[in-house]
Amino acid sequence: MEIKYEGEKLVLSGMDCKCGMNHVEPDMDIYIGNGILKNCASYFKKRNFGKKALLVADNITYGIAGKKVETLMKEAGFDVSLCLLEREHELEPDESALGEILFALDKDTDFLVSVGSGSITDLTRYVAFNTKRPFVSVGTAASMDGYTSVVAPLLNKGVKVNRPSTHPKVLVCDIDIIKNAPYDMMYSGFGDVLGKYIAKADWIAGRIINGEQYCPMCADLAVEAVEKCIANADGIRNRTDEGIKSLIEALILAGITILIIGNTRPVASAEHNMAHYWEMMKLLKKEKAPAHGTSVGVATAYAMKFFEHFLQSDFTKVDKAAVRSKAKTRQQREKEMIEYYGVKAGTSIMKENPEDFLDWSEQERRIDAIVNNIDKIREELKFLPSSKEVIEILKKVASPLTAEEIGVEDELLKKALMCAKDYRSRYTLFKSADEVGLLEEIVEKVLKG
Ligand SMILES: [Zn+2]
Ligand SMILES: [Zn+2]
Repeated sequence: MEIKYEGEKLVLSGMDCKCGMNHVEPDMDIYIGNGILKNCASYFKKRNFGKKALLVADNITYGIAGKKVETLMKEAGFDVSLCLLEREHELEPDESALGEILFALDKDTDFLVSVGSGSITDLTRYVAFNTKRPFVSVGTAASMDGYTSVVAPLLNKGVKVNRPSTHPKVLVCDIDIIKNAPYDMMYSGFGDVLGKYIAKADWIAGRIINGEQYCPMCADLAVEAVEKCIANADGIRNRTDEGIKSLIEALILAGITILIIGNTRPVASAEHNMAHYWEMMKLLKKEKAPAHGTSVGVATAYAMKFFEHFLQSDFTKVDKAAVRSKAKTRQQREKEMIEYYGVKAGTSIMKENPEDFLDWSEQERRIDAIVNNIDKIREELKFLPSSKEVIEILKKVASPLTAEEIGVEDELLKKALMCAKDYRSRYTLFKSADEVGLLEEIVEKVLKG
């Protein structure tokens, strides 16, 4: 795939991948550049959505960009109403915020405008999707890869839910605004990008072990985005235009792969499961969860260590009879999931991923596939950096490095490593380790450092 700029517009071309999967060209105008906010009204106008818009912002993003967008749109002849989500603390993407946006919506509102990053974009996309209106997004921080997402992570009664949603038709990322966002948002975005290494490795493993469909174009696009970002780590740390541009571009390109193949396989795997697990458990305890991307970055360092130990294991010693004697029954597995996730989430994960429980014949097939293909897996995963390199990369952008630094206790770290394999049926080397009976042993090694 070719990536180029026409003016400040990011244009992707050459999607002639022959992987056999269905590829969709995203219907989205992406603008990235310095000082481009002033053009936002003309970008929106090109799409002919109509005149009447609802602008969604919180008190912070309204000051940073929302007010200016509102003025520019009005000057350009749009009829703009404002939904200002005023909060004393950080805005949560919850039922109350959703209700406020719905109340502010008129019957004849033509489109929505979100001005913000994660939560505001997710709230707006969910309302836009469910009221069948288009929406456009003005990004204010490079904190996560969700601008292009079609799923909205929201909070329902304090519990995290992921709901089908839609992507913006226009995305405007003004580097002059984004580079001034709080720095913890930058290393959060960087962490989210770093996780793509694990995602690609697990996808390759899924292809080799289970014959999973694999799109080299999307897998490579995501990892090229990471590498470009790593090359610009100093620039990100020092908030140079080039550094911040590489970060937002990487987040967008990684996110675009989701639109191209219609699922998050190229961008999320075990490292995201770990981050989600920490978030879920913190929310259950009514504690503040670490930022998504920051968790993903830290989880990537642990996952990479896990991969190293796994790939170095001696697979000639796998004893199938011993593994079989320890294989869990479905009841035991359900009980274990409830221990890890609590009754509500544990039960629903088991229900949503029925193929996740393996009978012995399937487990045996996988064990053989792992043992017979381990050299091929080792060879194909040579693109991965070492866990030491991952730590060095995180250090370069001044990100937290350990679970402890993001408020995740030892117990919670261990549990996240033990159930990094469980959140979805999606194949990961954590599943491989479990299937050959090495999971606990490798988790202990990772925890010992
Ligand atoms: Zn993410
Ligand atoms: Zn493909």
